[in-house]
Amino acid sequence: MIPVTKPYLPPHADYTAYTRDIWERGWLTNNGPLVQQLESSLRSYLDLPYVQLLNNGTIALQIALKALDIQGEVITTPFSYVATTSSIVWEGCKPIFVDIDAATLNIDASKIEAAITPRTQAILATHVYGNPCDVEAIAAIAAKHHLKVIYDAAHAFGTRYKGQSLFGYGHVSTASFHATKLFHTIEGGAVITRDTDVAAKMALLRNFGHTSPYTFNGAGINGKSSEFHAAMGLLVLKDMQAILDKRKAITQQYDTHLAGTAATRPQVFDEEHTDYNHAYYPIILPSEEVLLEVMAHLEVNNILSRRYFYPSLNTVNYVEPSSCPISEDICTRVLCLPMYHLLAPEEIDNICKLVLEKLG
Ligand SMILES: *Cc1c(COP(=O)(O)O)cnc(C)c1O
Repeated sequence: MIPVTKPYLPPHADYTAYTRDIWERGWLTNNGPLVQQLESSLRSYLDLPYVQLLNNGTIALQIALKALDIQGEVITTPFSYVATTSSIVWEGCKPIFVDIDAATLNIDASKIEAAITPRTQAILATHVYGNPCDVEAIAAIAAKHHLKVIYDAAHAFGTRYKGQSLFGYGHVSTASFHATKLFHTIEGGAVITRDTDVAAKMALLRNFGHTSPYTFNGAGINGKSSEFHAAMGLLVLKDMQAILDKRKAITQQYDTHLAGTAATRPQVFDEEHTDYNHAYYPIILPSEEVLLEVMAHLEVNNILSRRYFYPSLNTVNYVEPSSCPISEDICTRVLCLPMYHLLAPEEIDNICKLVLEKLG
């Protein structure tokens, strides 16, 4: 069976060596040496001043909204994983959906201003599939209207825009290091900012608001990672270049088979300035009917694909109904094909052959 994704696993012996050390120290969590080492390695790798490791990417979104003191309305994208919307609602804010750009599938920056009201406090956009949002247009709108910008950068590890990590844009970027993501710590995430005050606030929030063992500054939550998660991250980070190179090669092989067919691809934003991470391989099919046929045909041949994203988030039952025709249309037709480090060239050939059989 070919799954749609498989976590990257470093050599087992290397992980065992780390766990042996953890056993000897008896220090399992609460900002242990491996968590500190991974944070420091990530800061160097990303060339960013503040990278705080967390237990998942959803807590990262919640801590970002809390640290920036966002209340009221948050302009967001309907085309993302559900955590982007549910975090806004969980924090007591109201998501206002702005439709996506049909080419890049990211929030359409040219439609943001029309959605701003006196209650708007932030823009929370997703770099979908690791493809950059129009970060400069969004920064200009935010500056003009005094809004904060948070990027759900769960897919963005390894993407660089204009020479720097995509995590460096916005007031805060949030990352997910879940096992299915390009870089992972089994479960995990991070908040990233360039702002010293916001970084200090987020450090408090992730550790119950502790300023010392018996003093607190504000209500916090438990966002801590552990030594076991950090050990996995240190090993995966070591192999990052090989992981990114492989993703690119897989993409090129898919493209060779599928270019010029009825399966189209999202466009990389500002390709000249983007060093893309090839995190996923989504295709857009002519109709939902064709999508369901392709999916079923792959499945009877023991290949799993995934409707990612589906449904359009402006249609979930806990948000006020609104219309985002482009996102709603794309959600019915977009399918992610298998993409993981150990996917073999013959497997890609076979997947494409099966897809093409249903495209006619
Ligand atoms: C994976 C993901 C999340 C959630 O991250 P977790 O680490 O699973 O909590 C949020 N947003 C997007 C776009 C994601 O893909």
